Amino acid sequence: MSDEEKREDGESGVEDIAVTSTTPQPVRPGLTEDEASRRVLDLRHQLEYHNYRYYVQDDPEVTDAEYDALYRELKTLESLYPELITPDSPTQRVSIGNAVSEFPKVVHEVPMLSLSNVFSPQDLAEWNERASKYLDRRYDFTYTVEPKIDGLSVALVYEDGVLVRGATRGDGITGDDITPNLKTIKSIPWKLKYRDGSTDPIPARLEVRGEVYMPISAFDKLNRELAEKGEKLFANPRNSAAGSLRQKDSSITAKRPLNVFIYTLARMEGGPELKTQWEALKFFERLGFRVAPEIKLGEDLDQVVEAVTAWLDRRERLDFEIDGAVIKINEFAVEDKLGFVGRDPRWATAYKFPAREAVTRLTGITWTVRRTGTINPLAILDPVNIGGTTVKSATLFNIDMIERLGLKINDPLLVKRAGDVIPNVVKVMEERRTGEETPVVLPATCPSCGAPTTRRPDESGSNDPKLYCTNDPYDCPSQMRDWIFFFSAVRGVDGMGERIAHRFYDEGLLRNFGDLYYLKREQLLALDRFGERSTDKLLNQIEESKKKPLDNLLMALGIPHVGVKSAEMLANHFHSLANLEAADIDAIAAIKGMGRVAAQSIVKFFANENNRKIVQKIIDAGVRTEDPIEEENGGRKALAGKTFVLTGNLVNYGRKQAEELLKRRGATIGSSVSKNTDYVIAGAEAGSKLTKAQQLGVSILDEEAFTRLVED
Ligand SMILES: [Zn+2]
Repeated sequence: MSDEEKREDGESGVEDIAVTSTTPQPVRPGLTEDEASRRVLDLRHQLEYHNYRYYVQDDPEVTDAEYDALYRELKTLESLYPELITPDSPTQRVSIGNAVSEFPKVVHEVPMLSLSNVFSPQDLAEWNERASKYLDRRYDFTYTVEPKIDGLSVALVYEDGVLVRGATRGDGITGDDITPNLKTIKSIPWKLKYRDGSTDPIPARLEVRGEVYMPISAFDKLNRELAEKGEKLFANPRNSAAGSLRQKDSSITAKRPLNVFIYTLARMEGGPELKTQWEALKFFERLGFRVAPEIKLGEDLDQVVEAVTAWLDRRERLDFEIDGAVIKINEFAVEDKLGFVGRDPRWATAYKFPAREAVTRLTGITWTVRRTGTINPLAILDPVNIGGTTVKSATLFNIDMIERLGLKINDPLLVKRAGDVIPNVVKVMEERRTGEETPVVLPATCPSCGAPTTRRPDESGSNDPKLYCTNDPYDCPSQMRDWIFFFSAVRGVDGMGERIAHRFYDEGLLRNFGDLYYLKREQLLALDRFGERSTDKLLNQIEESKKKPLDNLLMALGIPHVGVKSAEMLANHFHSLANLEAADIDAIAAIKGMGRVAAQSIVKFFANENNRKIVQKIIDAGVRTEDPIEEENGGRKALAGKTFVLTGNLVNYGRKQAEELLKRRGATIGSSVSKNTDYVIAGAEAGSKLTKAQQLGVSILDEEAFTRLVED
């Protein structure tokens, strides 16, 4: 008899079903319709609440599995009692309606606006001056500063708190009715309810506007999936959001992880009196709408510019695309007086950030050989100005990407620059091809040493095939040059930048990374443009690097399959380089968390005579190759033994990234707060975990404290 049967057996017809139970119940045969109806209502409330926690607050109280179980229970009950299904049941979110051939048109009762643009603090001051002059007397404005999300504007209409219509912006006057598609977005409430328990009236009629977007992480994932299926990729998150929202079949939209930020009160009948944009935003939050983080209220233009600059600074770290900031005069009474110029309101403007994309031509590809033998392509471009910077090259990552993009020499490319990193190629603008394009030829021999190349999957286990030089690093100058640079960088010898590492190799000062510890002061001083100060600084860094712990040395050796974590495990286990060198595959693979592949790779590394010679040179130079045993659990990892729980949203870190940073410092990440939790990191909109931490007296750190902890 299975557990399932046992449980049902034991319960059948005996106890009353717990209608308020927060744990899913096996659906009991012989449930009365009344009991079923109560349980269905209860489940809907719970699911709706957990949806809100998950999709609006990003702070779930239950695990996905627990949520799924509640959902399944509801689904089962609804299939047993179809008369209990209502259109607002959470089970209906994913399968509303059928495919439509054309979207019905909607006339916006309040037109959807466009915005004037400003590009500098000077422009902004002029915009402000025009608004002031327009009024017959001087007002002291305050302003809201919100991110300008690069997505699609939508209008949502609620009647008596129930979502009745969702439409696209269209031309601002007429849009498309895409209600079924918008209903699949989990952060759009179907039914309005004050989340703070307020007894304010629910508006009889409410129209809000917001921006639907696809998170960047979700966009990347979607494109990877499309690529695997050999389908056409989306150029950017905005296109993928648009494509997903305009699906004729809403069940496809439901599969796309779209999200929304609400920012405009278009119209309201009934409901509390709101006098400012700031109040409106708070009102949205109270009603369960999702509002963008970090919205600022500025007392004057200096504060506005400061808030805009902050958005520009955090732009690269966000999981959604922004193309500027929206500045609104906060007071609705002033807005009404100011009115419009054409379709642009006088009381709002968009502070646009520099563009990050441009179209240019691929003039060629250069091939770079790295330490592990991979030969990586770099796109050489017709120089083009993107957001004030001249871009001459773009990364192509690997040969797979050349094939996926269908890249040809002379192709017109859409190139995107994000932050200070090297720009990347988004796509080929096929419609702009001229016929002058020629195929990309992969090099048959290594551009550095001339050995034949080979094509195979990457060492890291990703599926992308890469091109490799078949020579040993000791016989391929480029590989060794890169190895020297890698070793120096890991050892913290910052003065040995890539260019200098290559130059020292080319000039014969370094034949391999072990030579680093044999550089002579007079050798360096004899070099062109190498003064006393830079020489001493470099030698000092090299000397300091000798004292670094064993895991750092193991990492720096660059043994395939030995990363930060395995280097640490090896150091903790073997305590010295000599012990590791003497170990066999079985001894290494026996360490918990170390794979056999890594063990084989380590043994192979030390079997290589060239490697052994260099290791000996390093030991002879007085480099620390042992960790005292006492240090096994102490000292090095600042946060070792500490358990952290994260809640709410951090502005500058994604959740995964924050966890990774803590783990790197030895911390353990917990999923729920208990008396064993050492610290709770509480971001914006932190929920029940924060309350729990306060109750238990667990130390609570805000983002600033977290930043100090991990950036230190
Ligand atoms: Zn080579």
